Amino acid sequence: MHLALTDQILKEVEKPARYIGGEINAIHKEPSGKMIRFAMCFPDIYEIGMSHLGAQIIYAMLNEREDVWCERVYSPWTDLHKIMKEQKIPLFALESQDPVKDFDFLGITLQYEMCYTNVLQILDLSGISMFSADRNNDDPVVIGGGPCAYNPEPIADFFDLFYIGEAETGYDALLDLYKAHKTSGQFDRNAFLHEAGKLPGIYAPKFYQTQYGADHTITSFKPIYEDLPHTIKKAVCMDLNDAPYITKPIVPYLKVTQDRATLEIQRGCIRGCRFCQAGMIYRPVRERDEKKLETLAREMLENSGHEEISLSSLSSSDYSALPELVNYLIEYAGEQRVNISLPSLRIDAFSLDVMRRVQDIRKSSLTFAPEAGSQRMRNVINKGLTQEDILKGAGDAFLGGWTRVKLYFMLGLPTETDEDLLAIPLLCNEIAKLYYELIPKEQRKGRVQIVASSSFFVPKPFTPFQWAAMDKREDFLRKAAFVNHAMHEQLNARSIKYNWHDASVSELEGILARGDRRLSAVLLYAYEHGALFDAWTETFHKEPWDEAFLKTGIDPAYYIHRERSTDEILPWDFIDIGVTREYLIREWEKAQNGITTPNCRDHCNGCGAAVFGGGICYAH
Ligand code: SF4
Repeated sequence: MHLALTDQILKEVEKPARYIGGEINAIHKEPSGKMIRFAMCFPDIYEIGMSHLGAQIIYAMLNEREDVWCERVYSPWTDLHKIMKEQKIPLFALESQDPVKDFDFLGITLQYEMCYTNVLQILDLSGISMFSADRNNDDPVVIGGGPCAYNPEPIADFFDLFYIGEAETGYDALLDLYKAHKTSGQFDRNAFLHEAGKLPGIYAPKFYQTQYGADHTITSFKPIYEDLPHTIKKAVCMDLNDAPYITKPIVPYLKVTQDRATLEIQRGCIRGCRFCQAGMIYRPVRERDEKKLETLAREMLENSGHEEISLSSLSSSDYSALPELVNYLIEYAGEQRVNISLPSLRIDAFSLDVMRRVQDIRKSSLTFAPEAGSQRMRNVINKGLTQEDILKGAGDAFLGGWTRVKLYFMLGLPTETDEDLLAIPLLCNEIAKLYYELIPKEQRKGRVQIVASSSFFVPKPFTPFQWAAMDKREDFLRKAAFVNHAMHEQLNARSIKYNWHDASVSELEGILARGDRRLSAVLLYAYEHGALFDAWTETFHKEPWDEAFLKTGIDPAYYIHRERSTDEILPWDFIDIGVTREYLIREWEKAQNGITTPNCRDHCNGCGAAVFGGGICYAH
């Protein structure tokens, strides 16, 4: 097969298998003039992108159509990036190795704000104009999707379209429309984008205008054409059993992050943690039938030869047929000599039993995500987990033979006090103490290992905390130092390890997550001055970003350290996720008073997601 990169270049770069395609189950078609060529891009390296379930589903789904050939594109790592820039080699898709610029569509999945400079890299290396406004009829249509598309505004200028919601429902209509425009003989990009903007779930940003007041807040946001919607309603796939899924996973040549078949058991989450964007934007909860999952598991394993299968979803313990599914998989996987990789489950008798059956308990650790140390703080965030639950789970685990526990916390949550922070080391110490109380000395194999990690809270759109102020970098670092110091003061300090994330990345994530269109200038400047792979610790540099804010005159504090009034027009207000603003306001007020909200299975809280007509909302 013809390769886009020469042998010489492939020898020079790290992991050349990232760029050659040709894996088992990769889809090849004979391109004809009428075929729609779709480049599906995950803007990070191959190993990360190949592990992403959503992109794999879209790949399989689009290739089901005879008139579409969907191929994959990932970010070239920095070594190849440099070579491609110097030698002016255009970015190519893996299957055909053809330049992305020759495709009809470039679809980019947006999973994390810190990938935004990688999006610019993709456009730059492809030779596609950065700004939608500068593209002509021959350029691919650049369309974004994924969780970050729920506030597309900071990157709106770089995209022609956004797909808001779940891809399974609306891509056919978009592709049919494109085909009709293309075969008309007089393709006009703007006319196509204008029509596309009327389809459900599709947002065409260039046809919308924002106005700002003297205090920099948004005073109006509206379409420039009467016939475009003022509100874009997210597209939701209500019947997951009928939805397209991967039956022939691509088998990579090199070790990728998730080197296994993945079963998506449900979408959405019943819990309603107030910091969690996924828990709100994917409502309502919809489950796949257990029998359907059994069939999919068999098909995926038989067609790929994968040696491991994992379950994927938010809060998998809440899947109603989990015991049946897990029992089936354990039996089937045992016969086929396939491993099962479990998602993190709530620790109870069932999950401990399952873990014991599928893992070597001496090597595995248990994971708890209390997110906060004190019960007061856990009520504020609606975590639905008590100290008693945590200690009971840890105690059962210690008695069952586990000696390693991982705990995840967040610092900088709304209303947090030093007392709440202090509760983190105290909880870790309690867990360590419990081990020494429960396990007699002669039965211990060394010390219990408690690894506590904290990240910094980043308020996200469409959560009850979307109005909250975010801490400053200095505040975060002070808090982490405070917790660290208190950890060392605990009686069982030698059994506890504490680590925390980089606050600079969290700050930037906070700016981009709740940003507006003015940030496109910052992004472009940062990319042009060296920012790339900002999600990677080894390649993240703060300097180009600091300089970008200075040069563009944009004040980062406006985006992070400011509590918004619930009357303010937020950049993402034109998107309708089903969950209403009134519900989010109610939850924001309850949070400030430490009042919890029951989960969707116990009680319907009237969040608005029932508007989609199915799922958990109708299971009561
Ligand atoms: S349990 Fe909480 S944090 Fe986890 S997905 Fe559900 S809402 Fe989000």
